[in-house]
Amino acid sequence: MCENVDDLTLGIDLGGSKILTAVVNARGAMLSSDENITPATEGHETVIQSIVDSAHRVLKRASVALSEICAIGIGAPGISNPETGILFTSPNLPGWRDIPLRDIMQERLGKKTFLTNDANAAALGEFYFGTARGVRNFIYVTLSTGIGGGIVIDGKIYSGAIGAAGEVGHMTIDDKGPICNCGNRGCWEMLASGTALAREARHRIKEGVKTSILEYAGGDVEKVTAKVVHNAAEQGDGFAEELITQTGYYVGVGLVNLINTFNPELIIIGGGLSNIGDMLLKPAFKVAEERSYKEAFQAVRFASPKLGRSSGVLGAAVFALQEMNKLRCE
Ligand SMILES: [Zn+2]
Repeated sequence: MCENVDDLTLGIDLGGSKILTAVVNARGAMLSSDENITPATEGHETVIQSIVDSAHRVLKRASVALSEICAIGIGAPGISNPETGILFTSPNLPGWRDIPLRDIMQERLGKKTFLTNDANAAALGEFYFGTARGVRNFIYVTLSTGIGGGIVIDGKIYSGAIGAAGEVGHMTIDDKGPICNCGNRGCWEMLASGTALAREARHRIKEGVKTSILEYAGGDVEKVTAKVVHNAAEQGDGFAEELITQTGYYVGVGLVNLINTFNPELIIIGGGLSNIGDMLLKPAFKVAEERSYKEAFQAVRFASPKLGRSSGVLGAAVFALQEMNKLRCE
């Protein structure tokens, strides 16, 4: 056995809007954590410096020296190759192309670093410390600005040929649908994400539909977000509720594809949009039940992530520990 229960790792969850960092022990306990805004529009150099600053802050908070950390794990959005440590592209980090993020972080912080996809990291976090403990076949789906996914098959993240697997947000739901950042049309995230809900609301408001949504956005149509639509729906706005139901329908269509393709035991649904709850998820589960193979639907359970927004940072930390142990055992 080469595992050491005293191992400390530094987990980094790099998102399009937030950077979360944490010092984590091998049992998944966070000794300290830090959160700050991702300066996504200021280019990769500024974002990387923010990560480095956050790393130093979180270590100081835990009174842990860099030398006491055994490895660093980063979960980043977009397509990356865990073998080479290169982040190819990320729709949520404009201008990022072929960035050797793993090596840059390793050089700046002077510690062995490992890179994975953010949703894969979240799936790992839930597998080791959360909702998916003991579950061998499951899918983690995050409904957020976009839609991310982590696929666990027989207890292991399925990463595909170059590490790009699990991009469930870019499976085609409507082949004539709106054009996505990835170049495809009618991707799941173009129809069932928070961005999609807000875009549809703005579009329909501009067409003159009768709704109170604008009142919750200070009268400015450009300030209509998924949260604003939800606020209006909660106050009884029928149109807002209809939009959420429609988004839920598309969430369900994507779930059918996942259920029929992977026959998972569990699908964990996280991300900010999922906080809407039943209004969004009931129509989603209804479609999933109506259209999936009956036997496969009966075998699947839906749950929310037990670790909440910490899934990714804990998963990045556990990923680093796992990879480090592989090296030690070689
Ligand atoms: Zn796409």
